[in-house]
Amino acid sequence: MSTFERALHHRLEQQRAAGRYRLRRSQRDAGVHTRIDDRDVLTFCSNDYLGLATHPRVVEALCNGARQHGAGGGASHLVNGHQEVHDRLEARLAQWTGRERALLFSCGYKANLGVISALMSRGGHVVHDRLNHASLLDGTRLSGARLHRFTHGDVAAAAQTLAGLPPDADRLLVSDGVFSMDGDCADVNALARLAERHDTPLMIDDAHGLGVLGASGAGTLEAQNVPLDQVPILVGTLGKALGTQGAFVAGSHALIESLIQFAKPFVYTTSLSPALAAATLASLEIVQCEPERRAYLHRLIQRFRQELTSLALPGITLMPSETPIQPLLIGSEQAATALSERLYEKGILCTAIRPPTVPTGHSRLRVTLSAAHTQADLDRLLETLARCCRTVTS
Ligand code: PMP
Repeated sequence: MSTFERALHHRLEQQRAAGRYRLRRSQRDAGVHTRIDDRDVLTFCSNDYLGLATHPRVVEALCNGARQHGAGGGASHLVNGHQEVHDRLEARLAQWTGRERALLFSCGYKANLGVISALMSRGGHVVHDRLNHASLLDGTRLSGARLHRFTHGDVAAAAQTLAGLPPDADRLLVSDGVFSMDGDCADVNALARLAERHDTPLMIDDAHGLGVLGASGAGTLEAQNVPLDQVPILVGTLGKALGTQGAFVAGSHALIESLIQFAKPFVYTTSLSPALAAATLASLEIVQCEPERRAYLHRLIQRFRQELTSLALPGITLMPSETPIQPLLIGSEQAATALSERLYEKGILCTAIRPPTVPTGHSRLRVTLSAAHTQADLDRLLETLARCCRTVTS
């Protein structure tokens, strides 16, 4: 075995020994009722919050889009990978989020790398909520700017950090709209007021809020009535409530033109598949025209919270959240993994989230609810949790 291969094996062994080896299972399809290893499985961990990944109209639009425009863009957006269908989707996303323009990226990770690295540089300061998504932190590292993190949700702590920065330095305040592992929402109005006081642009990554929060599904800003000009940089992803794949940044004409000029993760990568752009046009129409999907999802969330609270399961704390992300805090990695495995034996997939994704001692089951779940699916989750958790947490 070469030295290189030996080093790889050694590192993997260490990961296994630490109980942190990540498992990848092959699922038959993206539905909540699916099959894994020839067994029927009901899933409660997808981000497909509205069940649009398998919606017949979205799937049909994807197939037709591939026929009309091609399966792939064939080049980057600035060479010849940009098509009219991308323009149509960008215009619809801008309209939906109330912005002058939107710009597509092929995934949210790249959108966040692209925005922060295009706008910030060495000598600048980027101030983050401690629980911001990894891609926002990596974008800051890529930019060379200094990374600051304030205690989760603590606007006073963010104010203190901003007040301590050199007055002339470039700065950016960044937060998730809905926090991906906790499911709670940032107080965007408070952050916006703070940003205004410190003449600092505010960037919100609303990957998990778009499509599920707000009357028209326009996300955390709509739900909290945030004046749009207070958040000049909005990032959204297409792979969650919209059920497809990709991402966008929405903002002013000048912001979008700056990203086209300076965001390397936009410039040097193949364009978002035009077929996916066509599929996303279809899913966006459903998000906007079928608010009943959102209403049903929110009823499911309320019912889950009420019934789980009244079950008072030992060793499980339901974290405060009004979004489809309903984490069950367990604590130890072993107990979270054991509960996840016990559920899986009973045909329910809900993966354990462990360090380094969450802090040590905060391992959890990240239950996510979807409009594709029936009331009977929810009954089954609650009953199975009640049966399994007594055995693993006692
Ligand atoms: N931002 C947040 C808050 C996320 O949770 C994620 C993905 N889970 C991303 C960005 C990255 O999006 P994508 O999966 O499209 O790369």
